[in-house]
Amino acid sequence: MPTQWESLANEHILGIAPYEPGKPIEELERELGIHDAIKLASNENPLPPSERVQKAISAALGALNRYPDGSGFYLRQALAKKHGVTPEHVVLGNGSNELIELLVHAFMRPGDEAVVPHPSFVVYPTSVQAAGGIRVVVMLKDYRLDLEAMARAITPLTKLVFIANPNNPTATMVTAEEVERFMARVPDRTIVVFDEAYVEFAQGPDFPDSLGYMKQGRKVVVLRTFSKAASLAGLRVGYGLADPDAIGLLNRIRPPFNVNSLAQAAALAALDDESHVMECVRLIEAGRHFLYDEFKALGIKYVPSRANFILVDVGRSANEIYQKLLREGVIVRPMTSFGMETALRITVGTPQENRRLVKALAAVLGKKAS
Ligand SMILES: *Cc1c(COP(=O)(O)O)cnc(C)c1O
Repeated sequence: MPTQWESLANEHILGIAPYEPGKPIEELERELGIHDAIKLASNENPLPPSERVQKAISAALGALNRYPDGSGFYLRQALAKKHGVTPEHVVLGNGSNELIELLVHAFMRPGDEAVVPHPSFVVYPTSVQAAGGIRVVVMLKDYRLDLEAMARAITPLTKLVFIANPNNPTATMVTAEEVERFMARVPDRTIVVFDEAYVEFAQGPDFPDSLGYMKQGRKVVVLRTFSKAASLAGLRVGYGLADPDAIGLLNRIRPPFNVNSLAQAAALAALDDESHVMECVRLIEAGRHFLYDEFKALGIKYVPSRANFILVDVGRSANEIYQKLLREGVIVRPMTSFGMETALRITVGTPQENRRLVKALAAVLGKKAS
């Protein structure tokens, strides 16, 4: 029996499982009687925002009685300059998460289809479902997006195709060559969304020039975020790059003050702070290699990563290992909700955090850490 509230609800949302956020780290510590827990569960940057960014945030505090700049004037201008486009090509979001929702809201009519990879970012299918759209799910192949199959899944009803590159939770990427072949098969009525939240960690000559397709006039939207390499997950700021006509449509439904003033000030300062991003990228790369070696020593299989997290196969119940790691004060993400019963997603941390993780993993797996 639906509750009275459920019978009043938009029926499309009733089938959606609520997002289960983790407990605050302090609460977990209190419950388990532990301290100094480390969080390697949400692909956050282990480094805090740089001093320069923190100063910019402090400087903006005195004007918090005012609404933020609803147009994001300076930040859009700076982003346009960085990417060689005009500010009219840029839309700001309360995290790139909000932009995914705005895209779905703007373009999907009930009955339209969206092609989504699986396992991937759950915001794609839930947003599509909430809008009454049809999710056409294409399974990954060898932990990678199967662009061949995704191209085949496009029908005359397909409005959107979501490409998480690198993909979350597998940390694999699709290459420039693969995307080129894919784009050749996408009809002009279908919008391709490249969600590049982890692009900074994946850079290399084989990384696709998604923005190039946008500049050629293809129906492409590129999403980026300040949540990962820029260390600003807590402030919620991301952006989209697309044709000004597409941006105009998103702006019609964008809440006018969706990006707060501290976030705008911080993001603007972060854009000027290449050295922080470079430091993070180096740290993550070194951390990935450290962890690969340790995983090998522990006999844990892993998927080579182009992001700041690693998918591992612990060869037994991931939920059980997750619970045991919690008691050691190490928080990771079990992948059971994705149907991967023996997989954990582990965010790369600082060198100390990585060592803690390895020690705890060795302990709960009953093995000796090297
Ligand atoms: C973390 C992440 C994002 C970024 O979300 P924000 O809302 O910008 O914090 C977007 N896409 C994927 C695949 C992610 O993993």
